[in-house]
Amino acid sequence: MVPLKYLQAYPATLQDKVRALIAQERLGEHLARRYPARHDVQSDKALYAYVAALKQQHLRNAPGIDKVLYDARLDVLRNALGLHTAVSRVQGGRLKAKKEIRVASLFKAAAPEFLQMIVVHELAHLKEMDHNKAFYQLCTHMLPDYHQLEFDLRVYLTWRELPPTINVNQRE
Ligand SMILES: [Zn+2]
Repeated sequence: MVPLKYLQAYPATLQDKVRALIAQERLGEHLARRYPARHDVQSDKALYAYVAALKQQHLRNAPGIDKVLYDARLDVLRNALGLHTAVSRVQGGRLKAKKEIRVASLFKAAAPEFLQMIVVHELAHLKEMDHNKAFYQLCTHMLPDYHQLEFDLRVYLTWRELPPTINVNQRE
């Protein structure tokens, strides 16, 4: 059985549905039908504006954000669906915590729903460091469909890492 590293926390029945789509080579088509749109948040500057607008709308009282950027080296799974760091820097002899939001570069080419979901996730971390109940309440407050989107994003990440299918007709 194929291990689905992005989906390990989900019920076996859901994982089996994904495995069936993979076996039928229909997972890409399934995702393309559900998430056909793309977005134009393609630069760090555009990403900053996008994050700031969502924060202004939902989390006005959360701490300010110093920096927002796409990061090509970010591992979505290892960094718990996006890195959330309070980088400490020595400035004029004093230590100042700097709030950064880093979003994995793969989201540039992903559906707008997935970008929104990952940004909502990172914004929620401004208030809650851990993935606890309060954290997910914040996420669903900002994005009522959050849980479905996180599942679908994990399916998308699974699909991106599938080995390229061998075209049997071209094999000699
Ligand atoms: Zn997280």
